This record gives sequence, structure tokens and C-alpha cells, in this order.
Amino acid sequence: MPANASNSLTRRDFLRSRISAPVPEFRPPWTDDATVQSRCTGCGDCVDACPQNILELDENRHVRVSLRGAECTFCKACADACDASVFDTEQTPPWPVVAEISGTCLLAAGIACQLCTDICEPQALRLDPDVRPMGRIRLETASCTGCGACLAPCPNTAITLSDRRMKGLAA
Ligand code: SF4
Ligand code: SF4
Repeated sequence: MPANASNSLTRRDFLRSRISAPVPEFRPPWTDDATVQSRCTGCGDCVDACPQNILELDENRHVRVSLRGAECTFCKACADACDASVFDTEQTPPWPVVAEISGTCLLAAGIACQLCTDICEPQALRLDPDVRPMGRIRLETASCTGCGACLAPCPNTAITLSDRRMKGLAA
């Protein structure tokens, strides 16, 4: 049996028992809660326009984001479809969302994994190899767009999204 066989089995077990990522809910990019509450008519045009299928209407028929394993590509199709001035595409950044890594990252359990760094286009996630034995994922919050692409690939649901203003980070 190879020396790392037990680690490989453990990793497979983790991948097999993978649970769905929690579904974070935010208002769409270039909006905020107050604007959505006051202006959204519930027509659903932005919901239909989103090619990622990550928009839905809440119980009050106000638009919200529900990633469901996909990510926002910031394509602006939602904003283009809206006739109710809910979206302000001059707003930078588009939303105050940032990723957060918890202690359940497989690296902390000594299991090799870098699925999140592989998928992060802005390279906000990097492996710090100096942390023994397996390294640690570092998040560069200034580079994170909050797109959510890293949530679904994580085998142990170690990544969530949060509001950077609640964490004392610049929006
Ligand atoms: S920017 Fe594009 S991917 Fe993001 S919510 Fe709007 S339509 Fe969907
Ligand atoms: S949310 Fe998007 S930009 Fe931020 S770390 Fe995850 S993949 Fe990278």
C-alpha cells in the first residue's frame, strides 16, 4: 500500500459524502436592499434574463440572488432587462460580497485540495505552502469579487459568502 493511501481514501470519502453548499442570498449586483424593496415591481424580467439562473423573486416578489451552485459573471443582463431603475451599473464594486474560508477546509485536516484556487478567476485564493503540513488557502479580499464560483467546487463546504461591510472591509 502506498504511503499516502490512507490520505487518498480519506479524500475520496470526503468527496463522496460531499454536501450541497449553503445557498447564500443577496440582492443582485448594482442594487441594494432598500432600492430593491422600494422599486422592484416583481415583474421577473431580470430573473428571466440571467443566463446563470441565479436570480429569483422572494416571498414579497422582490428580486434576490440564489446561487444554487452557479456564480455571477457580472454580465449585466439583469440590469439591461430592468425597466424600473433598480440597477445602478455605475455602482463600484457591483456588490459588497466577499468570500470567507472556514476551518473545515480539507487542508486543515491534512488532505490535499486546491479546487477553489483553480476556479478563482481573479486569483483571490492562493495556496500558502509555508503552513505545514499541507499548506493553507489565503484569501486576498481586495481581489475577491464575491462571484461565488468557489463555493460549489469545495468538497467540504468550507467557503461561504458574506457582506464585507459586516466584516469591517472596504466595500
Ligand atoms: S450580472 Fe449576469 S450573471 Fe450576474 S445576476 Fe445579473 S444577469 Fe445574472
Ligand atoms: S468569490 Fe469569486 S473572486 Fe472571491 S474567492 Fe471565490 S471565486 Fe474568487
